[in-house]
Amino acid sequence: MNYTEISYEVLGPVARVCHNRPKQANAESETLLAELDHALECAKRDDSIRVLILGGVGKHFSAGHDLTDPMSTRARLTAAEDIWQWESEHYLGNALRIWDFPKPTIAQVQGACIAAGFMVANMCDLMVAAEDAYFSDPVNHSLGAAAVEVLVHPWVLGLRKAKEILYTGQRITAADAKEWGMVNHVVPRAELENFTLKLANQIAAAPPMSMRMLKRSLNRTADMMGFRNSIMAHFDTHQLSHASDEHKAIVEAGMQASMAAAKKAQNAA
Ligand code: ZN
Repeated sequence: MNYTEISYEVLGPVARVCHNRPKQANAESETLLAELDHALECAKRDDSIRVLILGGVGKHFSAGHDLTDPMSTRARLTAAEDIWQWESEHYLGNALRIWDFPKPTIAQVQGACIAAGFMVANMCDLMVAAEDAYFSDPVNHSLGAAAVEVLVHPWVLGLRKAKEILYTGQRITAADAKEWGMVNHVVPRAELENFTLKLANQIAAAPPMSMRMLKRSLNRTADMMGFRNSIMAHFDTHQLSHASDEHKAIVEAGMQASMAAAKKAQNAA
């Protein structure tokens, strides 16, 4: 498959899959999500691949879902049936397929890692961040929706910090994220790719079958602590917030504004 919105590199035992829409701050479109899913499936089936790195080409990891995309590719998602089905497959589904990827995964993060970008990066097992990386989930403030679709925040930040960043919508720095346990390592931007690849190769040196069993066991531990049930429960609650008048009003205004901005940019080009 020829990818147009991601890159797929095989670096010995490591597959490096990157969001590749740098001009759009790596916003996740329908195509990008489909390609990401396809790449994961390929890396899963390829026995020579032992570790997967998930990154972004250019200045940013990902600014989140491409909110202009639904306007251009699908009918307006106003019915609960449509939103539930779309987000269940493409947002929750995509994210859980990263979580359930049978081999170790590392998020390689620079620049913006916002909303859905935050969500998919945190579905990886480990995270390496450049010093310029920043994280936020402003969706409650900006869209009137209850956070992003996958409430991974308490699991990677602890409940206290997760509540603070979600209530305020504030950005956190790579240094803060490391202090709070969400990020494993912070490195200078110029060293991000090499450092992450070195870490991946260190992991890839272990026997692959026992590594898969180890990840399975760790993820199952999270499930016994309630991970999957709480993720599924939040997804439905998130859907309820999509059905609210306050969310609909914000989306209406925001979509119109973003479409007008896109039109203006087209006219200027
Ligand atoms: Zn949603």
